[in-house]
Amino acid sequence: MKTKYVAGVHFVGLVMMLTAARHADAAVIGKYARWPAGATINVWIQNIDPEGDDSRQKLFADGINRWPATFDRGYTINVNLGNPPANTPNLVRFTWVPPGTKRGGLKLAPLGGITGAEVDVATNQITGGQGIIDNTVPNGTAAQRQFIANLGMHEFTHALGLADDRNGVVTNSKIAPTGVMAFNARDLAEITLLYGRPPTQGGGGPR
Ligand SMILES: [Zn+2]
Repeated sequence: MKTKYVAGVHFVGLVMMLTAARHADAAVIGKYARWPAGATINVWIQNIDPEGDDSRQKLFADGINRWPATFDRGYTINVNLGNPPANTPNLVRFTWVPPGTKRGGLKLAPLGGITGAEVDVATNQITGGQGIIDNTVPNGTAAQRQFIANLGMHEFTHALGLADDRNGVVTNSKIAPTGVMAFNARDLAEITLLYGRPPTQGGGGPR
C-alpha cells in the first residue's frame, strides 16, 4: 500500500499554515483524509521511563485516552505502552527523540511533538500515523506531568487527520502548560467536520 506522510491539515476555511510555538506542525497534503469507518486504531507509545503512573509514556497515553469518550463515532482506540508487535495494523506509533530532530520538513521544538498521519493516496484514507516527542520533556512536577498528558491529547489530533486550530483548545498548537485540557466547541466542530456527528446527537431513539 502506498502511503504518504502528512502532518496536519487545516480544514476550517482550508487555511494552511505552519505553526511553531512549543510545537510544530506541517501544513497540508492529503485533503480530508480520515480513518475508515469503524476502524480500530492501535496506538503504541515507546517506553522512555521505568513503568509507573508518572512515567512519561503513561502520561502521554493518559492524554490520548481522553479521546474516545468525545470522539464517539464508532472507532476503537487502543492505547498501548512499549513496542508494537510486527505487522500491527492501523498502527499509530509515538517515539521519543531529541529536540531538533527533523520530520516532515520540520524541526522538533523543545517540549514539542510532530505527528503525521499516513494516507493511502488511492483511497485518501488514513492507514496509520507516526509521532515524535521531545525526549527531554520533564515530568518532575505535577504541572509538568499535566503538560505531558496535554501534549499527548493534542498530538493525537493529527493522527486523526485534524489540524491545529488557534480557536480550539485540544486542537490548539499552544498546549496548556498545566491543568487538564478539555474539548471546546471549536474542537468539536473540527471533529464533526471531518468525521460527522456522533450517533448520540440528533437521534433520540434507542441506539
Ligand atoms: Zn498540533
